[in-house]
Amino acid sequence: MKQFHRRSVLSGLLAGSAGLAWPCGGIAADLDAALRVDAGRLRQNIEDFSMFGRKPGGSFADGVSRFAYSDADIAGRKFAMNLLHAAGAEPRIDAAGNILARREGSRPDLKPIMIGSHIDSVPDGGNFDGVLGSMSAIEVLRTLNENRFKLRHPLEIALWSNEEGGLIGSGAAGGVVKPEILGVTLNGIRRIDGVRRIGGDPDHLVAAHLEPNSRAAYVELHIEQSGRLEKTGTAIAIVDGIVAIDEYEVEIIGFANHAGTTPMADRHNALLAAAKLIEAVQEEITREPGWQVGNVGHLEVYPNVRNIVPGRVFHTLELRDLDAAKVKMIGDRIIARSKTIATDTGTEIHIKLVEREPAAISSPALQQKIADAAKSIGLATMHLPSGATHDGTMLTSIAPIGMIFVPSVAGISHSPKELTSWTDCANGANVLLQTVLRLDRD
Ligand SMILES: [Zn+2]
Repeated sequence: MKQFHRRSVLSGLLAGSAGLAWPCGGIAADLDAALRVDAGRLRQNIEDFSMFGRKPGGSFADGVSRFAYSDADIAGRKFAMNLLHAAGAEPRIDAAGNILARREGSRPDLKPIMIGSHIDSVPDGGNFDGVLGSMSAIEVLRTLNENRFKLRHPLEIALWSNEEGGLIGSGAAGGVVKPEILGVTLNGIRRIDGVRRIGGDPDHLVAAHLEPNSRAAYVELHIEQSGRLEKTGTAIAIVDGIVAIDEYEVEIIGFANHAGTTPMADRHNALLAAAKLIEAVQEEITREPGWQVGNVGHLEVYPNVRNIVPGRVFHTLELRDLDAAKVKMIGDRIIARSKTIATDTGTEIHIKLVEREPAAISSPALQQKIADAAKSIGLATMHLPSGATHDGTMLTSIAPIGMIFVPSVAGISHSPKELTSWTDCANGANVLLQTVLRLDRD
């Protein structure tokens, strides 16, 4: 109630000073501090957005299937562009199908502050992943416009295309997407056809590339997708960065033989070696404190027959942490352990590094702005790494990046059960707004 009252007072004060740029400090800073998004409208927009990709006869609780380039994605994009229009901006679509909108500042010489997220989902996904950040960015724009609040910097809203299917839109903006990956088909749609479907120009993808260091900052609000905020009763996470990922492929060669007649001592059981190796992965990752994680998520056993000793196993191994050196060290330890396991099981173990994704570290200055913004609203914060990749990963060349996380109920995401309370949604949007105001003072 108190907040609403302050906001009304603020709107009244600002309405009388249409179009004026506020000087720094003093009363202007107080007015900045009281500015809040419309939480009810934010909720309404997130609820409305859940219609795009909802199964027939379903409800909000059934989540969405709105994978990139699908009819649901196209309908959702249209809705988002209408919201941008209603917020007072004219959206455009770039060559990668990203939706971009710009609000001019009072100082055209300053680099734009960029905020945004994505509106596509995984198949059978939830209502908040990407949508919260996208709707909040639009809400920030609308709040500024409704209050005739002049920023010094231009403000850009970016709704990145196809985040869930390979960070295609942000990758193109960051200049890191190679045209050949557009030939890949996912969820039944070839990317090159998909980019065309959403109004992009895949033959000239390079046109979507933004100039290096051309933006003052890129800030994204997102759901945490883990249970650390909820467990600690913390409203806001300041994201230290997006983790480095090392991907390995493991091949274990044993000897396929009769499972009834081969004595146990004479077996070369590739699956037994895999089991020991998977346990070693668990031990090496949990050996020291920290947020590091690892996963063996895909496994193939040959010949995969009940009366034959497994002769060959192929499996994946993925290791993640914010500290790339730590990720490499854990990988090296697992490789060292594999040599003993191979000897013990009479097998050969080949572990090959197939991809090394560097971490995307958040700008320390930007982290401080987010911390100050949360503090100004009276919200408790903690620092966390993001174990999931996000569009910001692709944008480090164009701007210092920063991310704000809000709690995910039970740590669930990429599921219809994904949930964030409306209070937490509004808190996140207000921290985003207040972060923008703080960035604008630089
Ligand atoms: Zn997301």
